[in-house]
Amino acid sequence: MTENVVAIADRRNSELQHRKMYIDGNWVDAISGEVFETINPYNGQAWATAPLAGPADVKKAVDAARRALSGPWGSMSAAQRGVLIRRLAALIEPHADELARIETTDNGKVIRETRGQMAGLPATYEFFAGAADKIFGDTISAPQTNFFTYTRREPIGVVAAILPWNSPLFLLASKLAPALAAGCTFVAKPAEQTPSSTLEFAKLIDEAGFPPGVFNVVTGAGDTGAALTAEPGVDKVTFTGSTATGIAVMKSAADHIAEVTLELGGKSPNIIFPDADIDAAVNGVMAGIFAATGQTCIAGSRLLVHESIRDAVVERLAQRAPQIKMGDPLDIETEMGPIAFAEQLEKVRFYVDLGVSEGATVVCGGERPQDTDLADGYFFQPTILSGVDNSMRVAREEIFGPVLSVITFTSEEEAVQIGNDTTYGLAAAVWTKDVQRAHRVAHRLNAGTIWINSYRVLANNVPYGGFGQSGIGRENGIEGLDAYLQTKSIWVELTGESRDPFKLG
Ligand code: ADP
Repeated sequence: MTENVVAIADRRNSELQHRKMYIDGNWVDAISGEVFETINPYNGQAWATAPLAGPADVKKAVDAARRALSGPWGSMSAAQRGVLIRRLAALIEPHADELARIETTDNGKVIRETRGQMAGLPATYEFFAGAADKIFGDTISAPQTNFFTYTRREPIGVVAAILPWNSPLFLLASKLAPALAAGCTFVAKPAEQTPSSTLEFAKLIDEAGFPPGVFNVVTGAGDTGAALTAEPGVDKVTFTGSTATGIAVMKSAADHIAEVTLELGGKSPNIIFPDADIDAAVNGVMAGIFAATGQTCIAGSRLLVHESIRDAVVERLAQRAPQIKMGDPLDIETEMGPIAFAEQLEKVRFYVDLGVSEGATVVCGGERPQDTDLADGYFFQPTILSGVDNSMRVAREEIFGPVLSVITFTSEEEAVQIGNDTTYGLAAAVWTKDVQRAHRVAHRLNAGTIWINSYRVLANNVPYGGFGQSGIGRENGIEGLDAYLQTKSIWVELTGESRDPFKLG
């Protein structure tokens, strides 16, 4: 382990890894000295601790980020920023495996996925490193011909990033890489369930040579996040998490007119038409709801299937779902890990019971696995609920677990209507071999990402974000960079003639 990790004895006398926060280029504990534990969801045991930051710690981090804006970072050229970001990308590669193991231990996501995510991080940092010196303003022919008018694209300032527990470093990259490219400074607040990978990652920032205060990490729960969004020194809040918390974040940012980017929940429909390749569609449905144990905002949690193929599709799903290999998420063979923490497991259980009480039928799963090897972990079987009507709560509310709701439709019109009958609008998929129908339906669905004959594919150069209550703004791609820039218009008078002070223009 690295130098910011020290082992401390916890009250049960076992060894827990303790990582410090990174503020203004220093490794620090909370001013109060308080810490909190994180639990490995595979065995239910505490394995690490992190400082519990209070408002004074948060202020220290935001002040450091403000100072850094006008320090060496602020006077660097865009190309120099790009060089530093590239150096960071290069440092991630040799540490990717270690970061993946830390994250899997924190949130139970299977190592084959966390490894893939970490292996992809350098490309995201490189993409935005390359974009840093391609940030251009415009020259504009204003109607006042005695003026030369141009725009500059300037960093928005201090960015506060509040992150969830399901993909900490992957989601951090889509915020931090463009923010650094734009010239912003940054304070990250990872989720209380998963602080360790971000604290470990901070070491690479330090090693890369970013000036102190450019990147800071504060750790803690919702109170720490709330203190961060309330800090008047924060110019932009970027948040990924639940819609309910997104609303609180937006209200808090409104108090000091901070800009927001919000990536929130979803209840995404996976729509299968009768002419679809059923095998491919079944694979897509499985990927959409059971990969990452269903704990992704883009989960394809509503299966909309044409009634003529409903039985065939459900039968195949019911055959395959129980074969999913659950086990130690650090084992490369494991396909589905545990639910990330105990409260989330309870939430999943609650919704399955609720679905049954609303009239749905459990086709498979519906409870914790019987396997004694899995008894200590927060495992839940891959679950399929059929006979779901779109008005039921299991079809309307985000469960964030391996629970699929099967809903039937009889026409394209009805599929679109049900697909759009949600407060969310994050993603959707259309399964059909009819190219006209594919595009027609894709255009009519209200969601930020539509897959045709696929599911759960993202890239660092393709914009990503939600319609409706799934969010505000876009991440990734050039739009993801724009989110960290603001435009300044500059008017240069060319003639030197004096003007009437009481006339506009
Ligand atoms: P979940 O994804 O488990 O539903 P949240 O969306 O509430 O959880 O959490 C996502 C992130 O938001 C976490 O880092 C959490 O600590 C943080 N958070 C929770 N409540 C608030 C709040 N009121 N203000 C700012 N951040 C918060």
